[in-house]
Amino acid sequence: MSDLQESAQRPQAWSDTELSSSVQAYLLMLRLELAGERYSKAEVNRQLREGPLVTRSQASVEFRMQNISAALYELKMPWITGYPPARNIGSAVKEKIIASLFEEGIDFLDAYIATSHVETLHTRVSELRQHHLGRKPLGSSRPLTETRTMTTHVRDPAVKAWVLQLADGVCEGCRHKAPFIGQDGLPYLEVHHVMPLACHGSDTPSNAVALCPNCHRRCHYALDRDQFKLELYENIPRLILEVPEPVPSDMDVFINPDVA
Ligand SMILES: [Zn+2]
Ligand SMILES: [Zn+2]
Repeated sequence: MSDLQESAQRPQAWSDTELSSSVQAYLLMLRLELAGERYSKAEVNRQLREGPLVTRSQASVEFRMQNISAALYELKMPWITGYPPARNIGSAVKEKIIASLFEEGIDFLDAYIATSHVETLHTRVSELRQHHLGRKPLGSSRPLTETRTMTTHVRDPAVKAWVLQLADGVCEGCRHKAPFIGQDGLPYLEVHHVMPLACHGSDTPSNAVALCPNCHRRCHYALDRDQFKLELYENIPRLILEVPEPVPSDMDVFINPDVA
C-alpha cells in the first residue's frame, strides 16, 4: 500500500502483533545505538514491512518509531536520535506503547533515567560506568527541578568550630595541610560525622573529625571506607565508637558529603 492510499483511507489501528514487532525492532536498534554499534534504520524498516508490518508504508513505520520515541521520552528514558519523539501522539496510543515497552523489557534503560535523588544518581552513574557508553548523551538544555521534603539534622556550630580548631589546619585523616584557604580566610577542612547522623550518630566532638575534601570523600565513597573509618578511630583518641542504627530509606544524606 502506498503512503497516498493509506492516508486517503481511514488509518487502521495497529494490532498488538504489529505494535510489539515495532517495539522489539526499536529496542534492538536502541541497544545497538547505546552500545555505539552501527545499524541501518532503513534496513530494519524494510524487514518489518516484509514481515509483520506487511500492510504498512515506510512512512507509517517510521512514524510509529517516532511514537515509540515519544513514549520513551515520557518515561525520561533515552530514545533513538534518528527518530525524534512525535509531538501529537494520542494518550491511548501512548499508553499502549508504554505497556508494550514494559512487556518487551526495558530494565536496561533504568540507569539512564534522570533523577533529583543524589544517591540514586550515584548508583545509576556507577551502573552506566560498568558498560561502554557508545553515544554522546543528549542531556537536557533545561534540566527540570523537583521539590522534595528533606530531613536534615540540626547541627551545633560550636561542635564544628571546635573540631576545626583542634585540627588547626591539618587534616585528621592524612595529616596533610588544608588544601586551600576558604572564603572566611581560614584553612579549608570539612567536618565529617564518623557515625553518620542519619544512623543516629551524635553531633559531638567525639563523633566528628576535620578532614580535607579528599579524605572526606574517601569516608563516603571509597572501596576501603570501612577500613579508613577504623583507622580514624585508632588514630584520633578523641573519637568514641557509637552503635549504628539503620538508615531510613528516604534519607540520602548518608552518602552526600556536603551534609554528612
Ligand atoms: Zn586528608
Ligand atoms: Zn561526611
